Amino acid sequence: MYRNDTVYYPQDEMTTFLLPVTSGCSYNKCVFCSMYKDDKYGEVPFSDIEMQLVNGYTYTEKVFLTGADPISIGFDKMKRLLDMIHQHLPYCACVASYASIKNISKYSVEELSILHDAGLRLLYIGFETGRDDILKLMNKSHTVNEAVKQAKKLNESKIPFDSIIMYGIAGEGESVDNAVATSKMINQFMTNRVITMNLTVSHGAELENMIKRGDFISPNRTERLVEIRTLLENLEPKQPMIFDTTHPTNIIKIKGTLPQDKKRLIDKVTNLIKVL
Ligand code: SF4
Repeated sequence: MYRNDTVYYPQDEMTTFLLPVTSGCSYNKCVFCSMYKDDKYGEVPFSDIEMQLVNGYTYTEKVFLTGADPISIGFDKMKRLLDMIHQHLPYCACVASYASIKNISKYSVEELSILHDAGLRLLYIGFETGRDDILKLMNKSHTVNEAVKQAKKLNESKIPFDSIIMYGIAGEGESVDNAVATSKMINQFMTNRVITMNLTVSHGAELENMIKRGDFISPNRTERLVEIRTLLENLEPKQPMIFDTTHPTNIIKIKGTLPQDKKRLIDKVTNLIKVL
């Protein structure tokens, strides 16, 4: 079960107290992903979770819930979980977690507000792209409209979130259009940070077969860099927002705050394009 699973977490949570909540992925159908392909979805029993907390360091300030999408356990269990964390780790000011648009949609704004007040203070969400045709091609379980709707609910309930997007995902010749559409989507809500990931073809993922069949052609390096630059050019955040390409998959590592660092970041991407 979950004790033998590979544990995935954002690089910023490397030193955070990791608390297993689910194993596998409740969806497990995105064609570019093979992370949980062989794992059965399941919930970690509350008795096990409590045992981890009892043995935790009392002065822990942050907890990251592990699992593909721990909020899949639903409102009642999430509230119970957050209360349990608060009971055993009273100095914990932030509980963070991955979350999918599909599962956020199962919560009302009121429920999300209650979870915020109980300590849920950061979500990492895979938006991937702002194009419906690409979401469909990648077999994501949401549409752009749904993504914007759920993001606005989080804004209303005051739960901060980071938006993970993936360049290269639209395929050869589509990157500029994808960047424009993705920026347009993100410009409709407030997010702490845009985290970019570079599309990589994982062994065992359905995307690997799509490429073999010629149903998907990956864009080259230059096109991917142009996609990052186009994103930067088109992002117009309503409040300061971090733009972060430091995830290991990226072909350029840059980080800054928009709008003030926009020119500096664009120049860095342009300089790399020139030397390719
Ligand atoms: S990308 Fe996320 S939601 Fe999609 S299959 Fe992988 S873990 Fe599950």
